Amino acid sequence: MSKLMNAKEYEESLRKLNLQVYMFGKKVENPVDDPIIRPSMNAVAATYELAHRPEYEDLMTATSHITGKKVNRFCNIHQSRDDLLKKSKMGRLLGAKTGCCFQRCVGMDALNALSITTFDIDAKHGTEYNKRFLKYLEYVQENDLTCDGAMTDTKGDRSLPPHKQPDPDMFMHVVEEKPDGIVVCGSKAHQTGAVNSHEIIIMPTITMREEDKDYAISFALPSDTEGITYIIGRQSCDTRKSEGMTIDRGNMHYGGHEALCVFDHVFVPWERIFMYKEYEFSTQLVENFAAYHRQSYACKVGVGDVLIGASQTIAEYNGAERASHVKDKIVEMNHLNETLYCGCIACASEGHKEPCGTYLVDVLLANIHKHNVTRFPYQIARLAQDIAGGLMVTLPSEADFKSPEIGKWLEKYYKTKEDIPTEYRMRILRLIENITLGTAAVGYLTESMHGAGSPQAQRIMITRLINMNEKKQIAKELCGIEKGDHLS
Ligand code: SF4
Ligand code: FE
Repeated sequence: MSKLMNAKEYEESLRKLNLQVYMFGKKVENPVDDPIIRPSMNAVAATYELAHRPEYEDLMTATSHITGKKVNRFCNIHQSRDDLLKKSKMGRLLGAKTGCCFQRCVGMDALNALSITTFDIDAKHGTEYNKRFLKYLEYVQENDLTCDGAMTDTKGDRSLPPHKQPDPDMFMHVVEEKPDGIVVCGSKAHQTGAVNSHEIIIMPTITMREEDKDYAISFALPSDTEGITYIIGRQSCDTRKSEGMTIDRGNMHYGGHEALCVFDHVFVPWERIFMYKEYEFSTQLVENFAAYHRQSYACKVGVGDVLIGASQTIAEYNGAERASHVKDKIVEMNHLNETLYCGCIACASEGHKEPCGTYLVDVLLANIHKHNVTRFPYQIARLAQDIAGGLMVTLPSEADFKSPEIGKWLEKYYKTKEDIPTEYRMRILRLIENITLGTAAVGYLTESMHGAGSPQAQRIMITRLINMNEKKQIAKELCGIEKGDHLS
């Protein structure tokens, strides 16, 4: 068996990294123990811990197609529709267990997309990318690593292609070729879980043309490679995590983070390069990664489970659970959430085998799923806030509740049912606040909008993948246009 790390071993493995991390204008010497970053580490750690629980083993682990050993599913290359289905179910499970973004999907999606593209480039060019990639994959699987799949460049002036940007670093590109590798410059933005990752896997962000071939590069590096700097993004209410109390955080243990990853003249050895100037394969790599990652938004169904559970709970604490409009809102939330689940299950069950052997989701259905994700979590969040009531945003702080002078007033006036401690009410309201307005809203709402591609990216794919001629044909046949039944 390859090494399946547990949560503790994962944490220790991160301590060995020498990452250059900045937050609030200062270098973070110890990201693992930083109170703002640590909850995001805990969420990734859950992907390790659950793999050791017998009840989740089937979802959380898989069999490596290279070594035949048991590996964490996040390191697996999907070998069947069943693998794809389990991936969707694993996403829901972890979303529900953590109530946030658990970050590890981007690496899994990058590995699977690269397994296809490296094979296809070799078939055309006679290169050896797939062999290199499989060797790298084995290293990742054997050591149970977390990889940060990094696609999104900062893109500069959107009206200009990469090679016409006034600043060439707006897209990651090669600046020097050496006998043993290349030197790259650029950055990747919004990198989910970047400082919780052992490896970073770079892919191009858009279709590249011949003039942009210096930008058509893909490679993997250890996350603490010299020249890489991580700048952590702010989240709404982030400093609540450093107040030393628990209630106002909403989610006691878990969170997510994103970072801007800057590559300043970073050396990449040839054996870690999986695409080098084969610009005509950039579209395939981008679209397959996007399709896999759009499937991964199964995570939002799990976070939806948490939010629906919290909404039902606050309704019960308030004594409002039998009101017909409350029941109806809960039904609506469940309908929306299970509709999302249908999408991630559908694109997996309609998956197909690529020439390399990897199973790819149905790309159209993966795009439909993600497009629903750009909308439904907002609607579910709206209903949760409706049920929660205004107290969610006017509730005094935990410190006020603990105050010897005024705590008694808060206890008295925020009491509802006799058997419900006021603290329970605070806790559940803070959780709803966390998911719909606080740190977790980054993942549940805005990331649902823009992560794995903004809504317009899916609409472009839907337009391209729908078979419109077939639809026109069947319509015309049914009303007699095609068969010559018309009068003229
Ligand atoms: Fe995974 Fe969801 Fe986080 Fe993306 S947003 S990395 S799919 S948990
Ligand atoms: Fe994402």
